[in-house]
Amino acid sequence: MASKIPEVSSLVCEAQLAFKATYGGNADTAVSAPGRVNIIGEHTDYNDGFVFPMALPLVTVIIGRKTQSGLCRIQTLSEFADKPLQVAFKTPSSSAPLTRGAPNWANYIKGVVANFPGDVSGFDAVVTSSVPLGGGLSSSASLEVATYTFLESITGTKATSLREKALACQKAEHEFANMPCGIMDQFISTMGKRGNALLIDCRSLESTLVPLTDPSIAFVITNSNVRHTLSGTEYPTRRRQCQEAATVMGKKCLRDATLQDLEKHRSSLSEEVYKRAQHAISEIQRTEEAVSVLRNSDYTLFGKMMTESHNSLKDDYEVSCSELDELVAGALEVPGVFGSRMTGGGFGGCTVTLVKQECVDSLISHTLEKYSGKPTFYVCLPSEGTQQLAI
Ligand code: ADP
Ligand code: MG
Repeated sequence: MASKIPEVSSLVCEAQLAFKATYGGNADTAVSAPGRVNIIGEHTDYNDGFVFPMALPLVTVIIGRKTQSGLCRIQTLSEFADKPLQVAFKTPSSSAPLTRGAPNWANYIKGVVANFPGDVSGFDAVVTSSVPLGGGLSSSASLEVATYTFLESITGTKATSLREKALACQKAEHEFANMPCGIMDQFISTMGKRGNALLIDCRSLESTLVPLTDPSIAFVITNSNVRHTLSGTEYPTRRRQCQEAATVMGKKCLRDATLQDLEKHRSSLSEEVYKRAQHAISEIQRTEEAVSVLRNSDYTLFGKMMTESHNSLKDDYEVSCSELDELVAGALEVPGVFGSRMTGGGFGGCTVTLVKQECVDSLISHTLEKYSGKPTFYVCLPSEGTQQLAI
């Protein structure tokens, strides 16, 4: 059985109860921001390439009210966040800017407050979320973008553009969570539209909505529910290797390089750096091509490209793991499955599978039978980006 995705209204109710208990009285503002699944285009964003995510019906909800206390008081209802689950910090001023600290989860919020263009006089807030934390569906960006939307609502100051908003949230993650992420997660959480995926050109920052409403197909997200904590240097190392390959080829970044360029310079690159570049360059091309294939409803070819993407991430970029490989291999055995791949940064988290709608149940039962771990499934339609909610 696929997991039942909670209604946003029930998240708001749950948060309102907690708000009353913690702060007294009622919150008067509620916002949401979605997590995302990247359908194709992995580890391409920081190479100025293309990514193709869709916003999920899994969301972070923040409810709260403005205060004049000079304090930002926040409680998260996520038991998986690091403790304590309640924090209070002073609103920033030029003499006392915000700094990162413990607990780590509050850094995502502090980072957004620090990068918000308006004056924040203080607030009380409760955060709750249906996006799994650390599952590769971008709970972090959804928390940042929800925070920004919340601040817009309580201060009346609006970002001048959605792009500015997404970039401020990305900056928050860079500076306060120490994660040098690309722009995909914050863009889709800000700009997602129901019934569409979003092709993002990470160089020009232009984004194009691509309709995805065919009821005969479904995207199934399978959470492996494993996360291998590596040294923490894997992501920065991959970024550095991509930059190294580009520099050797005399290019600004791998978006500018072709596979022919790469072959020409092979002898000047270590085998590892060569393979990293092979993935990034081919994945950038594959993503652009895959989107035109999808526009023609050629699901067979699109699915094949998703699977190629997985193999490239597994063999050349080496960011997969046995559990994700097992999930993908199992999915591909099911009639009606067009393609399957790991999604997100890797080393655990989720896979995304394109399947005929009528074959969703057999995909789930086959996976339950075959996968040695305990998977969770989400059958998702492309959903709306961040929004203010009625309360
Ligand atoms: P992902 O974005 O793929 O879910 P990350 O490691 O980038 O994984 O971000 C997960 C982190 O974001 C959590 O460990 C926590 O610090 C923070 N976070 C996300 N959502 C929440 C939430 N609802 N409450 C508290 N912290 C959250
Ligand atoms: Mg994240």
